[in-house]
Amino acid sequence: MKIPSKVQIKGKTWKVRKVKGLRNGHDFVMGLMDPVARQISIDADLKGRTLIHTYLHELNHAILFELYVLMSVQVEEIIVEGMSDVYTDLFFVP
Ligand SMILES: [Zn+2]
Repeated sequence: MKIPSKVQIKGKTWKVRKVKGLRNGHDFVMGLMDPVARQISIDADLKGRTLIHTYLHELNHAILFELYVLMSVQVEEIIVEGMSDVYTDLFFVP
């Protein structure tokens, strides 16, 4: 699976970019989803299964945002992480 530079979700274009040393505030993170900019950011140093899993994790956040699915941050993380585990098994080819 190749990470696209753009993805369409419910007709809205989301940019996908790779960033060296990606941070959320002061913390280094592997991925980020920005609903205002409609942008998914992925740490540029990620490879293999971790890269695919991180992209799918942030993509799932973006999909829930576009579907107006509202839940607590903690519950959303559990659901998004579970979906990403399954999709990574489906789409990642070592
Ligand atoms: Zn998350």
